[in-house]
Amino acid sequence: MVRDHRVKRIAVLTSGGDAPGMNAAIRAVVRCAIYHGLEVFGILRGYQGLLDNEFIELKPRSVSNIIQRGGTILKTSRSPEFQAVRGRQKAKANLERMRMDGLIVIGGDGTYRGAYELEKIWLGKIIGMPGTIDNDLYGTDFTIGYDTAVNTALQAIDKIRDTADAHERFFVVEVMGRHAGFIALDVSISGGAEEVLIPETKTNIKEIAQRLSLARRKGKTSSIIIVAEGDEEGGAYQVAERLKKLSGCEYRVVVLGHVQRGGSPTAADRILATELGAFAVDELIKGTSGVAVGKVGGKLRTVPFRETFGRKKAIDQFLLKLTSVLSI
Ligand code: ADP
Repeated sequence: MVRDHRVKRIAVLTSGGDAPGMNAAIRAVVRCAIYHGLEVFGILRGYQGLLDNEFIELKPRSVSNIIQRGGTILKTSRSPEFQAVRGRQKAKANLERMRMDGLIVIGGDGTYRGAYELEKIWLGKIIGMPGTIDNDLYGTDFTIGYDTAVNTALQAIDKIRDTADAHERFFVVEVMGRHAGFIALDVSISGGAEEVLIPETKTNIKEIAQRLSLARRKGKTSSIIIVAEGDEEGGAYQVAERLKKLSGCEYRVVVLGHVQRGGSPTAADRILATELGAFAVDELIKGTSGVAVGKVGGKLRTVPFRETFGRKKAIDQFLLKLTSVLSI
């Protein structure tokens, strides 16, 4: 939606699950906006900070030395209060009192839903930036934080492979992904895992047990099974228990958990965050509102919030098929 008043003062916040590269995104937003003559404020603790009036003015030096840091200098939170109409009315009043013309929200699907609702009642312009390790946002090929999370998980899996190989053991490794198997599939391919269990496909645990037993008979001495936390078979512990019952073999379990969220962002995440931050500011200045920025097929794009949570990004079927082909 395009409205006609000029943007002079903007705010930026990070919301929902943190992701490496959020700081790089904040830095790009702040410096590009100031470069174009805007005033920039950070809002601490996501939508909750917006309700609690936690605005801080940001200058170019406020974002020095953060491009390489994980987490978010603005902090993040989940805000049930913002989900209610009364909460959003308060958010609108606070943005008006601070004379804000624009808002950039960095987060995932929930953050976009919140922005969509706020945009209905506030006259300022809102742009979303995809910051989540899960990569489960429609409208961008990759989200900020995803590449780092995959590489962090992969480093751990490489280490697990060493001990699996030395002791000739089976490992079930759980990676993040409550609703999506992007991390699981990418670490399976890059870590040479034998099996991958993701929420997007129906898991047949009996077939998996048979394949693993057959592989052992054919001389495979170690195997790694990657499970996305949201797989319908449950997490790694449940999967290991079922495989043990079906095959009689012992399975060691590793849950990678929150280590996948932290750490210094990769170059790819820093570059994506920087490009998208600059693009988001350009779009705000042009008067664009109600959209998320993303990169699709190498090109910077905007997509209306509504479309981002109305559609599901597809998993790469070719890669999925390759997991079983390559584990013979
Ligand atoms: P993420 O953005 O990482 O998906 P959440 O799902 O926790 O994280 O969403 C972040 C915040 O966005 C929530 O704490 C809430 O304040 C807001 N939000 C989520 N869904 C909605 C919704 N349907 N309407 C309004 N606000 C929402």
